[in-house]
Amino acid sequence: MDYLLTDEQKMIQELARKIAQEKIRPVAAKYDQSEEFPWGIIKVIAASDLFGLFIPEQYGGMGMNVLNLCLATEELSRACGGIAVCYAASALGTFPIVLFGNEEQKKKYLPDLAKGKKLAAFGITEPEAGSDASAIKTTARKEGSHYILNGLKHFITNGGDAEIYTVIAMTDKTKGARGGSAFIVEKGTPGFTFGKKEDKFGIRASSTRELIFTDCKIPKENLLSREGTGFIVTMKTFDISRPGVAAQALGIAQGALDLAVKYAKERRQFGKAISSFQGIQWMIADMATEIEAARSLIYSVARMVDAGHIDVSKESAMAKMYASDVAMKVTTNALQIFGGYGYMRDYPIEKYMRDAKITQIYEGTNQIQRNIIALQVIKESAK
Ligand SMILES: Cc1cc2nc3c(=O)[nH]c(=O)nc-3n(C[C@H](O)[C@H](O)[C@H](O)COP(=O)(O)OP(=O)(O)OC[C@H]3O[C@@H](n4cnc5c(N)ncnc54)[C@H](O)[C@@H]3O)c2cc1C
Repeated sequence: MDYLLTDEQKMIQELARKIAQEKIRPVAAKYDQSEEFPWGIIKVIAASDLFGLFIPEQYGGMGMNVLNLCLATEELSRACGGIAVCYAASALGTFPIVLFGNEEQKKKYLPDLAKGKKLAAFGITEPEAGSDASAIKTTARKEGSHYILNGLKHFITNGGDAEIYTVIAMTDKTKGARGGSAFIVEKGTPGFTFGKKEDKFGIRASSTRELIFTDCKIPKENLLSREGTGFIVTMKTFDISRPGVAAQALGIAQGALDLAVKYAKERRQFGKAISSFQGIQWMIADMATEIEAARSLIYSVARMVDAGHIDVSKESAMAKMYASDVAMKVTTNALQIFGGYGYMRDYPIEKYMRDAKITQIYEGTNQIQRNIIALQVIKESAK
């Protein structure tokens, strides 16, 4: 399919593909096993300026461009969904500053993030507040020129490895969802520590940790936007970050299909390559078609965002939900094409299935995406 990409977009795609093939693919299994944070690869991505793809030019980036971010994330994920999410999660942590930061905050934080000198992370989830984000208990109490944060976030991607955290805390518990506020917290701030590192099923190269705030004192200048807008910051951030999760799912699916087709051409049974069996061919046809449908949807949503549309919650949710469901289906069928060998860790395909699963869960589970989509469709039909 020709997506009519510009020369610059093709260049970004090629660059990310080269990094994926030459640097990531050879070490993907090693990081999956060791669960070590892939700093070596992050440095290569940083040196290639890919961290600047989602940051405006005046702050050292190449312009806030969601399609470019999706193209890079897709290609990196094709080789390893875990390493790619270390990159994509920095965009998630950075978007609140890009969207809601004031001039000083942008000047202070974005240039280092654009160069990949520092990574960002985003923290809203707590043990008692997952899908129901408005149930968060972390508080931010104003005291003179500071806020004092207390509470615990868990399952935070890049937790412990990122330097810059955008965090949602309650400034007024009596106001429910209107009582949440967004803050920038720097690693090293007294009272800000890291807890348990999770031992995960997939995306094992990425770190997932608890963030612990114990009387953590941050300057009032670190408040993003205004008090009470924390959940708006979150929703607007997810609207532009979910196409990135979708792109991660897409890359994982494409990577799995690439491996399955290669294997089907090599593996012989009944005296023939298994790729000659119609049962295998139909699986390949369905996988390729669904991947292309996901790609079309993701690129369209990303283009809408880049064209300045601000009301994209439904479309973003559709891209994330559809692409992640496709990724799970495609990786499961890709493993099936490998037969018993696919089930073994000596072969790369089972990792794709493990890495795909998370894309149906984070940044809102696919049940929550369906809620968002349905509510909007029903609202639109009433107009
Ligand atoms: C590896 C990993 C990385 C993560 N990274 C981050 C991060 O960087 N930052 C961050 O803030 N969070 C992060 N998360 C948290 C993630 O976004 C949450 O896990 C997710 O939103 C689901 O919350 P939960 O796990 O508490 O599940 P629950 O909310 O307890 O959901 C359990 C089940 O109930 C379903 N369910 C819940 N409510 C409804 C409903 N209304 N209708 C239908 N079904 C429903 C869910 O879909 C799910 O199937 C990460 C999680 C993981 C596992």
